[in-house]
Amino acid sequence: MAVSVAVVGGGLAGLSAAIHLAHRGAQVVLFEKEAALGGKAQEVRLGGYRFDTGPSVVTLPWVIEGLFREVGEDPSAWLRLVPVEPVTSYVFPDGRRLEVWRDGERMEGALRAWGSEAAQRWRRFLDYSRRLYENAAPLFLEVPIHEVRRLLRSRAFWRWRNLLLPIDPFRSMHRAAQALLRDPHLVQIADRYATYNGSDSFQAPATLNLIFWVENGLGVFYPAGGVYRLVEALGRLAARKGVELRLQTPVRRIVVKSGRVVGVETEAGFFPAQVVVSGVDVRTTYRQLLGLSEPLGVRLSEPSLSGLVFLWGLRSQTPLGHHSVFFSPDYEQEFRELFRLRRPPSQPTLYVAITARQDPDHAPPGGENWFVLLNMPAWEGAWPAEETDRLRAYAWQVFRRQVPGFSEKLIEVEAVLSPSYWAGLGSAFGSLYGTASNRPWSAFLRPPNRSRRIQGLYFVGGSAHPGGGIPLVLLSGRHAADLIAEAYLRPSKNV
Ligand SMILES: Cc1cc2nc3c(=O)[nH]c(=O)nc-3n(C[C@H](O)[C@H](O)[C@H](O)COP(=O)(O)OP(=O)(O)OC[C@H]3O[C@@H](n4cnc5c(N)ncnc54)[C@H](O)[C@@H]3O)c2cc1C
Repeated sequence: MAVSVAVVGGGLAGLSAAIHLAHRGAQVVLFEKEAALGGKAQEVRLGGYRFDTGPSVVTLPWVIEGLFREVGEDPSAWLRLVPVEPVTSYVFPDGRRLEVWRDGERMEGALRAWGSEAAQRWRRFLDYSRRLYENAAPLFLEVPIHEVRRLLRSRAFWRWRNLLLPIDPFRSMHRAAQALLRDPHLVQIADRYATYNGSDSFQAPATLNLIFWVENGLGVFYPAGGVYRLVEALGRLAARKGVELRLQTPVRRIVVKSGRVVGVETEAGFFPAQVVVSGVDVRTTYRQLLGLSEPLGVRLSEPSLSGLVFLWGLRSQTPLGHHSVFFSPDYEQEFRELFRLRRPPSQPTLYVAITARQDPDHAPPGGENWFVLLNMPAWEGAWPAEETDRLRAYAWQVFRRQVPGFSEKLIEVEAVLSPSYWAGLGSAFGSLYGTASNRPWSAFLRPPNRSRRIQGLYFVGGSAHPGGGIPLVLLSGRHAADLIAEAYLRPSKNV
């Protein structure tokens, strides 16, 4: 008989695990507490405007395409991933601007105004970040690094063990960027990539500068129609593979007997399962679903950043591109406030994504749908409304100064997603990306995809290996499926 699997949580990670497992013959039921799949990646419609609520930057598209191919499907039949150029437009507090392009020639053109030395340093930094990616990614992304037997079997490990220095783990991202890029504006751009997994550039190991290559070398993509089209495609694929999707069905408890899982308890009753895959934050899974304290490694790990999101429907058009960043005047102070002082930054960096640039029907004619993200510290308890008001007023002030044609009077509709909203989806401290990677050993403290304490329990999602962000959480689903297949279905060949 096929192994029975209960997947808790219908975010991208839970969906990935469910699809891989069903494809391999497991009997899979996925429980999602909300009315829609997607978790942090939701879709909201307000007035004539349409928004994605969470992720807006899709990188490493072959991870998404690989998921479809691995289960025998042609990705292009399910989803169209469109490259975004320029990748991002940066606006600095002194009024200087830089459009960053993946296309080498256009990037050279954009850097011309910054002088030949800046252009040369940018090229060198891109090359350095590419090498970091090539040295570190095969091991940290492709292998469940906590599984010693699988680690030793992987070619990536034997390549990597001689390469500790080339992955640059002993200085901070910021120190490396400063040494290589020098220009404080360009350094600020490089520093920003720490926030892609919710970390602090002034603490995180320089290895993470590989994210600079992921975005600016390998490119940024947009699922035509919006990021939610990815969730929809995965939901349909799961159903096609035979996954039973139970929406609005919160799991109250993962039931464990004699050290092994036996099923999950929902409002509708007990559901027996030989394997449980939790796509809910690991801390929350331990505390709320298992009634246990989390393992020491989890307790010691630092939560990643949270975020405050404004969704604004503007009844006018601005010159902004798809992705824009308005930097704070003092990034070091911003990171200090976010991580060491754990308080909302006094002058935060502002990120704006406008999908109406690709899909004009995401706003009424002549309008724009603004997704505005401000990084916030990991947060416990209710989010103070007065902080939302202060930060909104700050953002308006910056946009009035820096965006021709912007006025808050043009905002027709607004929705606010605070750290409390993300916490409501089960994310401990409202973290957007699980745990931060502020230490060289953070990757090893991140919980493994297979529980050591409870037999039959597996973890996927941003708080488990390999970490947060769309491609990584999709990979966590595949890792868990590989391990489950090895233990319950048939030996896996994919190391
Ligand atoms: C504002 C924001 C911006 C982001 N930007 C990017 C970006 O540009 N690029 C990128 O790659 N990543 C980005 N991310 C990160 C990315 O969205 C996440 O890493 C990813 O979506 C997490 O997926 P997940 O499946 O691990 O978790 P989640 O999406 O949190 O899914 C967990 C699911 O479990 C459900 N659940 C919780 N408790 C229970 C229960 N008891 N029973 C049943 N179901 C339960 C929840 O409702 C939820 O659906 C962003 C995130 C946010 C919030």
